[in-house]
Amino acid sequence: MKICKTIKEMQAEVSKRDRNKTLGFVPTMGALHEGHLSLVRLSKSNCDLSAVSIYVNPSQFGPQEDFGRYPRNLERDLALLADNGADYVFLPDNEQMYPAGYKTWVEVEGLSSILCGNSRPGHFRGVATVVLKLVQIVKPDLMFMGMKDFQQVVVLETMLRDLNSDTQIFRCPIVRESDGLAMSSRNMYLSPEERAKALCLSQTLDMGRQMVASGKKRAEEVILAAEDKINAAGGKIDYISLVNGSTLQPQDMIDQDTRMLLAVYIGNTRLIDNCSLMQSD
Ligand code: AMP
Repeated sequence: MKICKTIKEMQAEVSKRDRNKTLGFVPTMGALHEGHLSLVRLSKSNCDLSAVSIYVNPSQFGPQEDFGRYPRNLERDLALLADNGADYVFLPDNEQMYPAGYKTWVEVEGLSSILCGNSRPGHFRGVATVVLKLVQIVKPDLMFMGMKDFQQVVVLETMLRDLNSDTQIFRCPIVRESDGLAMSSRNMYLSPEERAKALCLSQTLDMGRQMVASGKKRAEEVILAAEDKINAAGGKIDYISLVNGSTLQPQDMIDQDTRMLLAVYIGNTRLIDNCSLMQSD
């Protein structure tokens, strides 16, 4: 496993590989868990070579958010990546990614200001910018991204399409703990009581799917029941939204393309989760 700490080193490594070998790429912010590692394994099974980046990108955090205390555990992450067969690990730093005089930002209009973008202004601008920079450096054939961050996938697919990139996104299924909680680096913030409460997200999605399976097709009805369930569990709702999975626009009537997206505070920790309401993911 080749570890590259500079942009130049990373560019040199990928450009000297055999050009007949396909390259998969998994961008992460580290504090790796099975969700991240499932992406690495999917990259390995779909591409000849796999690169992973670990970079806690400051520009996607708001001023009141958890950039400073975001979990970092580089040694453990590197051991996990070696075990899972990553070929390259890219570890850029802020001075290289955003040197003095840095001025260029990527904005995916419309999609960036709704849902998570509404509660986290500037978040998707930071994500789109850093991912485009990483794609320019690594030049992967496929980029492996988790549907856990469903809006992020749609924003980045739109960006790559609009900017005529050769890189395609490979959508990866959400990996969950055995009790249903979607794996997330932020789950580490939860106290034992909060960890128990956090189950309300996946349980609310399950309830939504069951309501639809039993014939309920009005979004409002599902949203009201979901609000009751989250409130009863002691979660604080940021949003509950039933949207078209391609456009992310709200839907009044549920159909094959409808996804239920949730963002809920458990204590001070903001968690997200989502699922399709009529299709298996
Ligand atoms: P992050 O380190 O949180 O930026 O996540 C890096 C990548 O891992 C993103 O594409 C996430 O969607 C993906 N990811 C995070 N958690 C999960 C999960 N539980 N299941 C699948 N993918 C995940």
